[in-house]
Amino acid sequence: MIRNCSILLLAVFWLFVNSCKPSGQLDMPADHWNRLYQFSVIPALQRGVFDDDTFTSGALRKHGTIGLGTFNALDGELILLNDTVYQARFDGNVTIASDSSKIPFAVACFLKPDTTLYLDVTGQQDLYQQLAKNLSPNYMYAIHCSGIFDSMTVRSVKAQTQPYPMLSAATASQAVFNWANLSGEVVGLFSPQYMAGVNVPGYHAHFISTDRKHGGHILRFTSAKLKVHIARVRAVNIEFPASGAFNMVNLFDIDPNDIHKAEK
Ligand SMILES: [Zn+2]
Repeated sequence: MIRNCSILLLAVFWLFVNSCKPSGQLDMPADHWNRLYQFSVIPALQRGVFDDDTFTSGALRKHGTIGLGTFNALDGELILLNDTVYQARFDGNVTIASDSSKIPFAVACFLKPDTTLYLDVTGQQDLYQQLAKNLSPNYMYAIHCSGIFDSMTVRSVKAQTQPYPMLSAATASQAVFNWANLSGEVVGLFSPQYMAGVNVPGYHAHFISTDRKHGGHILRFTSAKLKVHIARVRAVNIEFPASGAFNMVNLFDIDPNDIHKAEK
């Protein structure tokens, strides 16, 4: 009888523990927190490797609770938040990407904050200056902000056709969207200068509104009240594309500053 009760109690305890875990993280080992997963490297995107046949939205969701990137053909901006991948397209529509959507470049991280800040900022640069007081420029950081923005300006990129141009040429015709008094969330990554050639050095951030109707790659924002979660990235796992395009592209002699033209 006592043995049966013990087994029953253990079963109840196991069910309780698992029901308390956030969805999508049931089998995640504890040491997966704050490890960055990255698919492809930024120079490949800069040189027009806009397709991958194997890596998908469903695969990305297994690697984090926040993330950003783009879709095959550069068809809009990717925002990973919790268990969902959103696609913010050139026409302004935001949809949930299917698990089979293909991805040429993205990052993701199971963010467990080591710092939480409540900030009143005058804009994007003020936020970055305030964050700089809490960050070492020698580490990567995963960042998640939520709050209300006086104005938010983002861009999205039109799906490209073959033969693909360079990234800076593709983003030259980007669509820019501006909204006032919008609440939402920012997913971002800070990468040290020495990471240029692997990821975007400095800050790279995407936005999704609370109603999930607006989103994109952040160009700028003005005054905001923000709750900011920051986690120092402990390790980076880069998966290299196995595609022919990645195999053949010339990734030599890329001006690291060229990426900033494509990101503005
Ligand atoms: Zn972006």
